[in-house]
Formats: sequence, C-alpha cells, structure tokens
Amino acid sequence: MKRRTFLKTTSVSGLACALPPFFPFPTNDEYTTEELMGKAKVELFGEGINLRKAAHDSFLEMKKAAYSAGFDIKIVSSFRDFYRQEGIWERKYLSYTEDERLSPLKAIDKIIEYSTIPGTSRHHWGTDIDIVDGYPKASGDVLVPGKFENGGPYEGLKLWLDENSEKFGFYLVYTNDPRRRGFKYEPWHYSYAPISIPMLTAYRRLNVMKLLLQEEFLGIEHFTAGFVRTYVQDHILDINPKLL
Ligand SMILES: [Zn+2]
Repeated sequence: MKRRTFLKTTSVSGLACALPPFFPFPTNDEYTTEELMGKAKVELFGEGINLRKAAHDSFLEMKKAAYSAGFDIKIVSSFRDFYRQEGIWERKYLSYTEDERLSPLKAIDKIIEYSTIPGTSRHHWGTDIDIVDGYPKASGDVLVPGKFENGGPYEGLKLWLDENSEKFGFYLVYTNDPRRRGFKYEPWHYSYAPISIPMLTAYRRLNVMKLLLQEEFLGIEHFTAGFVRTYVQDHILDINPKLL
C-alpha cells in the first residue's frame, strides 16, 4: 500500500491498528523542558501512587509480589511538582537561615543533603518513589536510613527489595556506595528505570543554570555557575550507575 493511501485510510477508519514503523514519531525531544522540571501537567495513574502508566503497572506487580513475601509496600512520596518542591525548599531555607542562623551558603549546603533544588528533582518525573513497609509499627520520621537496617522496622522489606526490585524495573537511586557524592544514602528512594533513564538523558541536555536563573525562590541569588555545575555533577549524576 502506498503511504498516502495508508494515511488516508487510517484517518477514515481511525487509528485502531498499530502504527507502522515508518510513522514519523519524534525520537529525540520526547520530554519537554516543562515536564522535566515538574511544571507540566502529566497524566499519572493510581490513587496514592501517582506514577506514569508503565511505572504504575510495574509498581503494582512489585507490590503484589512483596505482599506474598509478607511486606506491604507503602508509598510515602511519589510525584511532586515544581511548586511543591519550591515550598519544601523555601521552608527549609527559612528554617536554616532564620531559626538556626546559618549563612545562606551553609543553609543551601544543608538543604541539599536530602532535598533538591526545585526543578531538579527526580520526583518531578512520575517515575520515582519513596517507600516503606506498612506492616511494622514505626514512630517518628519514617525516612531515616536506620529504619531500613540492623533490626529497624523496614529491614525485612529492604532485604526483599535488594533481591527483587530490579526484576520490576525499580532501582535504588542514592546508594550507600561510600565513593558516591551528592545526596546521602536513601534506602527508601526507588526509580522506574525504563522511563527515568531516557528522562535523565533528556535532562542532561538542558541548561540547568540558565533555567534556574529564571526562577525566584529564596536563596537563588546565591547560586553561582560553579555551584550549579557541581550540583548537577554530584546530585543529579552521581547516582546508581545502573540508572545512567
Ligand atoms: Zn525520594
């Protein structure tokens, strides 16, 4: 069939059939800057799950398997947009600079131990989750490394995830490799690699400094080109190598 005839036919009969391989789909700029920075409206799936479709489906599979092994995977945090991250950032900035009287640069260093600069979070992508085990009782802050090891309430789930999460496409992002820089060890943070790897590839093509300069959140006037360059190298790219 000639291409023109095919297109004509499909426009009449609808696109119920599978698209042919020569269909001109964009392969490079698959993700927009807005999307990569958490500013776009993306379609998310699952109440309390809020992930992109494939990540959502795979998460449910993993949850089911964990259930059979005696764990109840609970999502503490998944998708977070730019503006939520901005709120988190500014609250911490004020607390460190006003309550604890740290200098702006010290405050920024403290914030980026665990929190990202708005527009640079993997939680903007709809591919990343922070998870715990819903069964054991745990008091206080749940996202602390000690709770995932040495008799902590989530030790069992963590051991199960070490063995099984990758089968479902979920990889630990901020590993406990002592040579790793950037964010501290986060035994709770997993990423759905089949989508987050291409998203990170697209993210690497952005000019993060230029994009951040258009923002106005607290403390941003202290960002230098050198700081942002190091931040990208350490906090965005020094992650589990399987996710690069
Ligand atoms: Zn996280």
